[in-house]
Amino acid sequence: MKTRKIELVAAPRPPHFVGDGFRVHNFIPSGYRMDMKRMDPFIMLDYNSKFYFPPTDTPRGVSVHPHRGFETVTIAYKGKVAHHDSSGGGGIISEGDVQWMTAASGVLHKEYHEKNFSQNGGDFQMVQLWVNLPAKDKMSPPKYQGLANDKINKFQLPDNAGIVEVIAGEYLGMKGSASTFSPVHLMNAKLKAGRSADFYFPENFNTGILVIEGEIKVNGEEIVPTDHFVLLENNGTDFKVEATEEAVVLVLSGEPLNEPIVAHGPFVMNSHQEIVQAIDDFNNGKFGYLEE
Ligand code: MN
Repeated sequence: MKTRKIELVAAPRPPHFVGDGFRVHNFIPSGYRMDMKRMDPFIMLDYNSKFYFPPTDTPRGVSVHPHRGFETVTIAYKGKVAHHDSSGGGGIISEGDVQWMTAASGVLHKEYHEKNFSQNGGDFQMVQLWVNLPAKDKMSPPKYQGLANDKINKFQLPDNAGIVEVIAGEYLGMKGSASTFSPVHLMNAKLKAGRSADFYFPENFNTGILVIEGEIKVNGEEIVPTDHFVLLENNGTDFKVEATEEAVVLVLSGEPLNEPIVAHGPFVMNSHQEIVQAIDDFNNGKFGYLEE
């Protein structure tokens, strides 16, 4: 057992809008410290910090667009989002739910605030993570996993310290609910004030923490406020998250794929040739059809 220290605490960058429904701070890829390789296989992390959207009759969101070569994982903390894709996947996720969409060979999808949420308005808080696929799986069939909160396995921490919701991978022997194509651990730790949870991941796994609610102290040393991202070193295995006030943190750790990454907007492949092919296939309608 060896402590995994903090490499970087990243403050949220100024937000931008994705469509008109997602007001996000981008953490990955955000330049030389956390480019697409540094957190491989996590190639993108957009965070809609808690933000109030006023009522509207026209749901806000992102209209029909393609993806190929990776998975989009949406984790809802506040508000409701609806999703539909051209392979027939779809559903509504709300507080505590997760949507794991495997674009793989290609889908068209649209992502919108759910109708009633839009009409009432309210606080909206989400994470969208892009998990890269191994080269051998990039052209596999699309897949959709809708994980309602009651289907997500929950580890009860000792001393009534809180829970760890294991979305994917494993926490202290409890398996995650989502299936993945490469070793990925993804979990929400919900901790009571003054309590803590310990985490262990193999040293080579790229590992980070996003503070969703409250404030935490990592390894008994550094205080990290809400909406900040902690990148941990690839040196050491174990770290401790203590909630200095009631806190929710998203913990992610994955084995790097160590394959070439060539990204072009919504396509993430291994070579320029494959990007050209993706654009060609999209222009020729090979991603299917989805109504606006
Ligand atoms: Mn999308």
